[in-house]
Amino acid sequence: MGGRAISSPNTLSSCNAIGRFAPSPTGPLHAGSLLAALGSFLNARAQGGLWHLRIDDIDPPRAVKGSVGAIQMSLETHGFQFDGDIQYQSAHTDRYEQALKALDELGDLFHCGCTRAMLGANGSCQNDCANKSFTTTEPTSIRVKVPQNTVIILNDSVLGGQNWHLGQQLSDFVVRRRDGLYAYQLAAAVDDASPLTTQVVRGRDLLDSTPRQVFLQRRLALSSPEYGHLPVIKDQYGAKLSKQQGAAALDNSHPAQNLRAALRALGQPSPPSGLKDSESVLEWSRSRWDPLRVPR
Ligand SMILES: [Zn+2]
Repeated sequence: MGGRAISSPNTLSSCNAIGRFAPSPTGPLHAGSLLAALGSFLNARAQGGLWHLRIDDIDPPRAVKGSVGAIQMSLETHGFQFDGDIQYQSAHTDRYEQALKALDELGDLFHCGCTRAMLGANGSCQNDCANKSFTTTEPTSIRVKVPQNTVIILNDSVLGGQNWHLGQQLSDFVVRRRDGLYAYQLAAAVDDASPLTTQVVRGRDLLDSTPRQVFLQRRLALSSPEYGHLPVIKDQYGAKLSKQQGAAALDNSHPAQNLRAALRALGQPSPPSGLKDSESVLEWSRSRWDPLRVPR
């Protein structure tokens, strides 16, 4: 996949927009992940930009064998063409290690020996681990300190102005886990920073991760992308659709119908009924994409 694409520009002559779709390899795509794929795709392509597929595979215990192939096949069936090769976060560990080193040099990091049960309701360390010393054999996570006066303000392309008093909500958070794996917040902050990525369009379930990731980007002197958060599709019981909760895989035999449903959920105009194939539906929708129409 990649290469020639109906709505992919050959050059970046007039636009430097770079979007991405970044699923975890924890199962096939479902209706909720299609929404994130479609929103990120249209937002990048509407600006003549690039769109990458990144597999967020930094959590091997949660990975499900065969997911990457299933995700790729589903995207292809739905007419999505991504640029370049598939990117894998597991291949970026040098970047994450460098970021940890840079944060450590700033004096921002500390070891925390708390188990999950010992943490505060917001997940922060309550036991003053920053002022304790640990032996090298004790299992510890590595946390970044958030100064109390930290405020993150940004303009979400879908939701408008966002304002978080992060330092009051959270005194610290994990950047490397007790099992030695890099935390999602660190990996996403590094990979989503410009110039690797200039726009992140994803589900609103990740909205509360955004201030943490922007905080890390600022500490690391990285440029933040533009963020846009889409509605989350819920099941009949009001829970977010997720692979972990066993959401049904997309039915790849009706791609145009799936895209039409996703466009409706994103508040975008309905393509003419004569458009039967997914490529035509995407192409028609690309020039009409407006993030301000997405329900808030
Ligand atoms: Zn602790």
